[in-house]
Amino acid sequence: MAHEATRVLLDESRIPNAWYNIVPDLPAPPPPPLHPGTREPIGPADLAPLFPAELIAQEVSGERFIEIPQSVRDVYRLWRPTPLIRARRLERALGTPARIYYKYEGGSPAGSHKPNTAVPQAYYNAREGVRRLTTETGAGQWGSALAFACAQYGLDCEVWMVRASYDQKPHRRSLMRVYGATLHASPSPVTEAGARILAADPASPGSLGIAISEAVEAAAGAEDTRYALGSVLNHVLMHQTVIGEEAIEQLAEFGETPDLIVGCTGGGSNFAGLAFPFLRGKLAGGTGPEVRAVEPAACPSFTRGRYAYDFGDTAGLTPLLKMHTLGHDFVPDPIHAGGLRYHGMAPLLSHMYVLGMFQAVTRSQSECFEAGVRFARTEGIVPAPEPTHALAETIAEAERCRETGEEKVILTALCGHGHFDLAAYDRHLAGEMEDYTLPQERIEASLAGLP
Ligand SMILES: *Cc1c(COP(=O)(O)O)cnc(C)c1O
Repeated sequence: MAHEATRVLLDESRIPNAWYNIVPDLPAPPPPPLHPGTREPIGPADLAPLFPAELIAQEVSGERFIEIPQSVRDVYRLWRPTPLIRARRLERALGTPARIYYKYEGGSPAGSHKPNTAVPQAYYNAREGVRRLTTETGAGQWGSALAFACAQYGLDCEVWMVRASYDQKPHRRSLMRVYGATLHASPSPVTEAGARILAADPASPGSLGIAISEAVEAAAGAEDTRYALGSVLNHVLMHQTVIGEEAIEQLAEFGETPDLIVGCTGGGSNFAGLAFPFLRGKLAGGTGPEVRAVEPAACPSFTRGRYAYDFGDTAGLTPLLKMHTLGHDFVPDPIHAGGLRYHGMAPLLSHMYVLGMFQAVTRSQSECFEAGVRFARTEGIVPAPEPTHALAETIAEAERCRETGEEKVILTALCGHGHFDLAAYDRHLAGEMEDYTLPQERIEASLAGLP
């Protein structure tokens, strides 16, 4: 249901009453997804085997605001509103005149921002009579979030988890099983896509692209089953705008407006969720913050990928999406920020990047863990490996401010905690963290496989 507000209001629990859809405010709409066979723009019927009607409608919606159903707000209330915290101890340790604020999403049941979209996705599927959701997960954060959301609405949840993470992160598996999900290590023998890859390479470590192929195949082949994606799509980015809407109100209580917003980008959803509401005023002709995306040096979609139509998965089952991509066959090096190891980027963000609406930079794995440790020792929260990318950039910016004396207000998304990633922190502390350099030839080789 759409409504005619010009801004999002917080309800009596201080939770936003609507999600913000940035698409109608853009100077030009993003290029449409294409059917892989006909190369024509896809229609709702093409997506119906995968998604419920309401989410398809949201994916292509031209409404600026979409009301958040009461049932979803009731679940959000378990952990929302999330805190906005000024990092005074980090500022002091850095000796910076910059003021650093972080919006902390790690207090959700799954420990990240992912339940912000998992809950509405489960809700709309359940309302339309779906019985089972399939999905992929890399590091396990999205799988945990969807398993939790499915438990809220009585849906079965089946998760294909990238083999490398499945082996490295047994406790993420346990969490998903506690919430009632069924798990497969991907590639798995239970799908054609997985069996084909296993036949070629029985020791395949898997990738997000492979796991997506398996989950999509399982959903498309069953009447009562749909598929859920944790990032990349327009409706996912929109659901995450609750982060930015709350942050606008909370920063106003501090009497502040941000000069710079920094976020990490895997598929782009936590970054978009924080930044889009702040860009609304800028798009309406006013002023607004500078915005900066941070991606891993080992998986640099914005900074070294190509803006082209590509598949969202490895087997080529998804529609073609116009996005910054390293190629759907690209298998990133095994960095610990599993949530950032995706070959593509949200088409909506890719479009906005080309329009010059934000910048993108990369950070290496070891400087990110260094930033994570520094943050933990000052602010107390151990960040997930993904948001340490945003923290590394935030710290570098605050250090630049120390040189120039600039009192910049920096806002960053601390989109998850790192309690399931302590083995990676151990490696960092033992000096065993590897930095991978990504040779240009590897990118060229993988881009040669673009459709
Ligand atoms: C999944 C995940 C990411 C990457 O996904 P985005 O869509 O880019 O936000 C980043 N951080 C955490 C904590 C995640 O769980």
